[in-house]
Amino acid sequence: MKRFWQYLNPISRLGFKEYSLAFPLVATTVAVTLLELISIYLVSTPEAVGVYAIFVLLAVIIYFSLRDGVRGGYIATTLTISYYLYIIYSRNYIGERLSSGITTTIFLGVIYFLIASIIGGLKQLIDNLISKEGDEKKRLLTIIQQLPVGVMITDQYGQVTQVNHRIESILGVRVPLGYHIGKDDMILSGEFSGKPTTLSQSPLLHSLTTGKVVVDREFIIDRSDGRKVIISVSSSPITNRKGHIIAAASIISDITSQKELEARKDDFVNMASHELKTPITSLKLYIETLRVQLKPTQDQKQLKTIGFIENQTNRLQDLVNSLLDVSRLQTGKLVFQKDPFRLDKLVNEIVTGIRGTIKQKIVISGRKNITVKADKSRINQVIVNFLVNASKYSPENSQITIKYVVSDGQVIVGVQDQGIGIDKNQQKKVFDRLYQVTDAEEKTFPGLGLGLFISKEIIRHHRGKIWVESDKGQGSTFYFSLPI
Ligand code: ADP
Repeated sequence: MKRFWQYLNPISRLGFKEYSLAFPLVATTVAVTLLELISIYLVSTPEAVGVYAIFVLLAVIIYFSLRDGVRGGYIATTLTISYYLYIIYSRNYIGERLSSGITTTIFLGVIYFLIASIIGGLKQLIDNLISKEGDEKKRLLTIIQQLPVGVMITDQYGQVTQVNHRIESILGVRVPLGYHIGKDDMILSGEFSGKPTTLSQSPLLHSLTTGKVVVDREFIIDRSDGRKVIISVSSSPITNRKGHIIAAASIISDITSQKELEARKDDFVNMASHELKTPITSLKLYIETLRVQLKPTQDQKQLKTIGFIENQTNRLQDLVNSLLDVSRLQTGKLVFQKDPFRLDKLVNEIVTGIRGTIKQKIVISGRKNITVKADKSRINQVIVNFLVNASKYSPENSQITIKYVVSDGQVIVGVQDQGIGIDKNQQKKVFDRLYQVTDAEEKTFPGLGLGLFISKEIIRHHRGKIWVESDKGQGSTFYFSLPI
């Protein structure tokens, strides 16, 4: 029944480009024959049928123009006109009646053909547009299916409208169309940052409710087959022209093997740095012993060589310590011993210690007597890192300024240099693990790109902030703030 209705209903056939020839031909012939039978057997004056015929057949023409396009309309029109001519012929019109009958038929014929052309033309235009959109959609769906990442699209209510095969292979469950992200939590049964996920943490729902884009949020999923997979989810809202959210799309990628590789690499670095620590400590002891043994001989050349060895060993020790700090940060084993101390005094101590070892002039400016409650040796580490960097990336004899200001219950420490500066789009990245600004001039500087990452983590653990202000070629000022 439904199919029959669909066959008859011209609106539900919009987008179909199968235009029937037989149906308008047969149906119009049936309509014309019925009209003729009515005029012969039911109506007293057979001529009177002409008026009804005009309206009935006009309706037939409109119907077939809508259902079968221009061709359907023309078939119905041709049959209609033929019927009018048949009426003129069969009723034996003569004289004035004949001429007025022919004029009316020609006039109606032109109007009917015009109507069939306009309605049929519009219908075909709409069909073309719909099928073009359909082709576009098909192309998009094919691309979505082929993507190496999982893609899920929902409507504004969180109901899945599109999903590709990759989703199933990542999550280990089939996500049926119509699945409700907000209600069923099959996909959400997992962990986010080690804790069980809640509905509000679903990136898709977040994008739907807030209109914001979520980038690379990591979840651990317990699949029904017992496998644990780590996925990275990004999602973004889809808005209409008025800016209203009409859908949301989510991209899910399986990052389990990438994470395993990272973990193995971290394990290796952790193990290697632990193994390196012991020989370096022994090396330093031997250097000290050697120095004591050489002292009485006063052999300056040898003492100088020992000095070099010691410097390089210290560098090595710093690198290994940085690696160890990073490992401890990742495993949450870096402990902070927070006690009150005078920050201004610490700065003075550091500057006194470092002055002889660098080729720039250091100036301190700021208030005296600032006490903070923090891990002194770790804050020391941050300031030294800032100063060493300032010296490393600045010309000789330039000036490095350490300034501190107190405002709004916090102290801000800044280390300013007159060095090479950092490009605006790299300023955030310098605090990332293993990040080093790469371009021909800076490549020559040794380092691992860990110092600022460790500093950032230290300051984060003290509920402070860390940032840089700089312009390429104009020097940099690295800041951190601590609550007082
Ligand atoms: P590194 O051991 O390479 O110095 P850091 O984490 O301390 O590692 O610094 C990361 C990167 O930030 C550096 O490689 C350098 O490119 C850039 N950088 C840090 N401090 C400065 C500075 N004062 N001036 C210019 N560039 C800097």
